[in-house]
Amino acid sequence: MQQKISLRLPVGYATNNDCIVENIAKSTGNKIHEIRGFYLLKKSIDARGKTIWVNLMVNAFINEPFHQRELLAFSFKDVNTASKKCVIIGGGPAGIFAALQLLELGVKPIILERGQDVRTRRRDLALLNKKGILNPESNYCFGEGGAGTYSDGKLYTRSSKRGNIDRILNLFVHFGADENILFEAHPHIGTNKLPHIITAMRKHIMDCGGEFHFNKKVTDITLVHDEIKSIQTADRDTFSSDSYILATGHSARDIFTLLHKKHIEIIAKGFALGVRIEHPQELINNIQYGKRSFADNDYLPPASYNLAEQVDGRGVFSFCMCPGGIIAPAATNNGELVVNGWSPSKRNNPYANSGMVVQVEIEDVIKFNLANKKPNSDIHGDPLLMMNFQKDVEEKSFAAGGGKFVAPAQRMIDFTEEKMSTSLPQCSYIPGVHSTPLNEVLPTFINQRLKAGFKLFAQKMSSGKKQNGYFTNEAILLATESRTSSPVRIPRNEQLLSHPQIKNLFPCGEGAGYAGGIVSAAMDGEKVALASYALTGK
Ligand SMILES: Cc1cc2nc3c(=O)[nH]c(=O)nc-3n(C[C@H](O)[C@H](O)[C@H](O)COP(=O)(O)OP(=O)(O)OC[C@H]3O[C@@H](n4cnc5c(N)ncnc54)[C@H](O)[C@@H]3O)c2cc1C
Repeated sequence: MQQKISLRLPVGYATNNDCIVENIAKSTGNKIHEIRGFYLLKKSIDARGKTIWVNLMVNAFINEPFHQRELLAFSFKDVNTASKKCVIIGGGPAGIFAALQLLELGVKPIILERGQDVRTRRRDLALLNKKGILNPESNYCFGEGGAGTYSDGKLYTRSSKRGNIDRILNLFVHFGADENILFEAHPHIGTNKLPHIITAMRKHIMDCGGEFHFNKKVTDITLVHDEIKSIQTADRDTFSSDSYILATGHSARDIFTLLHKKHIEIIAKGFALGVRIEHPQELINNIQYGKRSFADNDYLPPASYNLAEQVDGRGVFSFCMCPGGIIAPAATNNGELVVNGWSPSKRNNPYANSGMVVQVEIEDVIKFNLANKKPNSDIHGDPLLMMNFQKDVEEKSFAAGGGKFVAPAQRMIDFTEEKMSTSLPQCSYIPGVHSTPLNEVLPTFINQRLKAGFKLFAQKMSSGKKQNGYFTNEAILLATESRTSSPVRIPRNEQLLSHPQIKNLFPCGEGAGYAGGIVSAAMDGEKVALASYALTGK
């Protein structure tokens, strides 16, 4: 028989299969030879106490021949001659997983992606990092695989729809990800591996008869009554299909502007904005694991953290923490500075970075605009209000850095004490940093909450010594972390998932405000693909 068994073992035992078998036998009351094998269903590390424990959930084969984990099977159809097709605008996780779902339904997906394939994109990223030259169509947010490709590839989500999450993780494995993402508590893939997986997905979509076009930036939509008849691209191509999935991500400002211009309803929404913080990874390891336990164990992954507090009615929280990572320039336009983080699969860089952001609501921006006498601060529902605020802060940050994507930066304690940093610590951000008082870059309502938040986090993350905790001048802050989620929501009918005004338009993923992260965007892509099929596909 097969039995699911939970074990809690010290590190040394959890890494040794014989010890695991011994403990399975102990827990079930069987003899060791009766345990024919096992595979892991879940694994998490508990490093809160002096002893590091590993929590395992295993599927054990007792008096039954062992067989390997069964992966989910997918049946993608040949859609070369399919009668139904669906144009997908945007080749990020939402668009790609929508396409894969459509292949299973027998619908031909046609992906239009403004950016380049992963390989060409890598060259564009090198140019941006080393020379400060940005390609507005091919960067950390735009290009094959979307914002997810050159990311940390963390695959956890707050969504609780386990079945759907498993499907997404299995699809990643199907296209080349390591099986450990199926059982790790905090699975991640890494920037070095993601591009290969994304390429394999694209090749498969095309092998099945789907289309994947690069350098196809959608710039216009032709509407007839309540339907899209066709869409146009910057190079004057026209595409038409039965339905249109709009999965352009949170940085496609031209798409938000286009929809607004066409009187297609969009709504301003809150997001979060702040800085990216970077500590030496060793310091974070010491705080989280204690010095001795980390040094004694190769087993422990570079430590991460997840911090959140309420300050003056708004959330202040860590965002997209990257252990052993690199801070990246994630802007999509010249003259704007945006930072984000990524890490390789081994997370073996000497720095730990994370967004440290403050929740920003519409009323905060209205107040800010009024106080700063900004023109066009339309209090009565300007759908681009939050997007324009985000853009303003990014532009200010770019100017403060002095150009070429050099980031304005300050030491952590200096920031809270409003002191200019006379020197800056080493930092992973390749374009470089420029010492700047960040309270002159960020709006005051953000600054004040960040400062208060840092002090609260210091209490949670101390190493026991006053100077070596989280709150330290060894940490550097870079502005601006601003692309945390979309500043716009594109509404959709709750049941049909189509836009309330346009029956064959399906807003999807992070840009439309229905996802935050790779897995949730992928799940939304699948959901919307099914909805578009329900409308047109059968
Ligand atoms: C550096 C970095 C690190 C990240 N790390 C993680 C992480 O570790 N884990 C995680 O879960 N999430 C991470 N994220 C966030 C994650 O990548 C996004 O949440 C996710 O990619 C959103 O998916 P999406 O498909 O909705 O949109 P996107 O990934 O943004 O994809 C949208 C696509 O649409 C294309 N597009 C835009 N406009 C047009 C147009 N007009 N015409 C044609 N195509 C267009 C874009 O080029 C892009 O490829 C990270 C993001 C960045 C930038």
